[in-house]
Amino acid sequence: MGRSSQTATSTKSVRTPRLYVADCHHTQGEVVVSERNHHYLARVLRAQVGQSLVVFNGQGLTAEATISAISKKQTQITITGGQHTPDVRLPITLGLAWIKADRFDWALQKATELGVSAIQPMITAFSDSPPKGERLQKKEAHWAEILINACEQSGNNWIPELRPLCSIDQIETAIPTHVAHPGSTETATLLTGHQQLLIGPEGGFSEAEIESLRTRQVKPISLGPTILRAETAAIVGLTLLGSRLGHY
Ligand code: SAM
Repeated sequence: MGRSSQTATSTKSVRTPRLYVADCHHTQGEVVVSERNHHYLARVLRAQVGQSLVVFNGQGLTAEATISAISKKQTQITITGGQHTPDVRLPITLGLAWIKADRFDWALQKATELGVSAIQPMITAFSDSPPKGERLQKKEAHWAEILINACEQSGNNWIPELRPLCSIDQIETAIPTHVAHPGSTETATLLTGHQQLLIGPEGGFSEAEIESLRTRQVKPISLGPTILRAETAAIVGLTLLGSRLGHY
């Protein structure tokens, strides 16, 4: 899931590249872009001085910019106008069980397109064995890149918070939490405030996990009469709760 899939969009022109620039904190000024962005602009786009860009910092700031200097080693941009945009993310944290890597990646990308606020990868009784140590660090960097690419492509100026992998027992349930569980008789009703949605792995949640979640006031909800793959369930669940929150 590389940057080649990025769609360059802006209100200005469909051809204007849209880039995540973490260091962009002001509505104007000069910024030397990251190695990642330099590579994309210099090697992939073969951009020249004067090229227009749209940049965003993942925390709501979006700005127009122009390449002011480009060399083999670095690219400098001049930010010519910027604005802070409101946080329009879905007020939902997605707790997603660790599933096969390509499916997990897909769910992260789509959840970001939908504007999820936070993503909590989790280990459950029936989830695959997670990567550990350096492999986990690489995986988390890969996930962060997916979120950035999805924000670049979808016009989302707010990158979701990516939380460290944790066990289902460590999931914070102080906010209203729903666990998607096939066969539940409840569906989500009208909602207000920040919500959390838990999606299980291909083998589902164990009965002990569901019981333990119930004792923590977590409500099992149905996503319909058919069994959805975990990644489909994540997207359907976010859309359903988003609708109950009046977000759409
Ligand atoms: N045999 C498993 C079970 O009965 O739980 C199926 C697991 S399903 C492939 C993976 C996850 O997607 C589930 O743990 C649940 O979180 C969610 N899911 C899939 N279909 C669902 C449905 N119809 N209602 C609620 N959750 C669903």
